[in-house]
Amino acid sequence: MRQKLLDRSEIMWDTGCREWKGAKNESGYGRIWSGERLVYAHRAMWECEYGSIPLGISICHQCDNPRCIEIDHLFCATHQENMRDCDVKRRRKNGAAKMRGQPSPVRGEKHGLVKITETQAREILADDRPAKDVAAQYGISVSLVYGIRNGRNWGWLKAGLEADQF
Ligand SMILES: [Zn+2]
Repeated sequence: MRQKLLDRSEIMWDTGCREWKGAKNESGYGRIWSGERLVYAHRAMWECEYGSIPLGISICHQCDNPRCIEIDHLFCATHQENMRDCDVKRRRKNGAAKMRGQPSPVRGEKHGLVKITETQAREILADDRPAKDVAAQYGISVSLVYGIRNGRNWGWLKAGLEADQF
């Protein structure tokens, strides 16, 4: 299975994503025949690496690229966490046009998803260790560390820090 997955995917050098070149579903997720049924390519990749996925666990993308099957870009979450993540993304998409150029009314510590303080977010931004080490230290998800670093979470903080440097 692993060889099949590797053969039918291609590394994107700009993003580091390993994009699936085979069949996809309507949402863009890769599909592969396991011998018995069609399965998600990214879930198949996860299983090659870590074994079978427990019931109720979703395999999610840190890179938000549904075609990606790069093991380093995948993380597991309960369905509940995954739904919440989707919910926030959808809200952001809907809200973006309305609130163009204005700070979000809930941001940083007041935001329900954020489990860290502003001070910690600043520390995480300044920390250049691998994301998984940082995540372990603060007890947060790796995707949140990535989120903080690429400005998806606490984006205003990152923008502020960069402005401070000038
Ligand atoms: Zn990726």
